[in-house]
Amino acid sequence: MPSRINCGMRMGIGYDVHRLVPGRDLILGGQNIHYEKGLLGHSDADVLTHAIMDALLGAAALPDIGNLFPDNNPAYKGACSVDLLRQVVNKIQAAGYEIVNVDAVVMAERPKLAPHIPAIRENLAAAMGISAAQVGVKATTTEGLGFVGEGLGISAQAVALLSQI
Ligand code: MG
Repeated sequence: MPSRINCGMRMGIGYDVHRLVPGRDLILGGQNIHYEKGLLGHSDADVLTHAIMDALLGAAALPDIGNLFPDNNPAYKGACSVDLLRQVVNKIQAAGYEIVNVDAVVMAERPKLAPHIPAIRENLAAAMGISAAQVGVKATTTEGLGFVGEGLGISAQAVALLSQI
């Protein structure tokens, strides 16, 4: 009986959290979103793009972004995460995969992200060399519960499906 395990499709998951602080830009999916706070991090702290990168890398069983882009490396200080996403996609392709689709959810109590979702999907699709129809992005609050609900941070989860080229 033929194996159904190696069917050439690979899924991955990514998760990330960054703290919300005054005096930083809020960048989500490459979009600069007007808000009184931004995410703290060594790079631009784009939590959504970070979750997507780890989903893509995980699907290919490659080392995660903490390994690829260490936060103690000055080269990545203030780095544009969408530029890092392009590098990740190059690694995925070099490993013999193409992206079927990506889906993600951002958890944030504020600001309202719905108006920004179309631009975010376009940014991410362009960086990955795929169409916006292959990129799902959703936003939710956590109903005031937990660190997200208290406005202390923003988290993101992503899944990715890859196909062997
Ligand atoms: Mg991160």
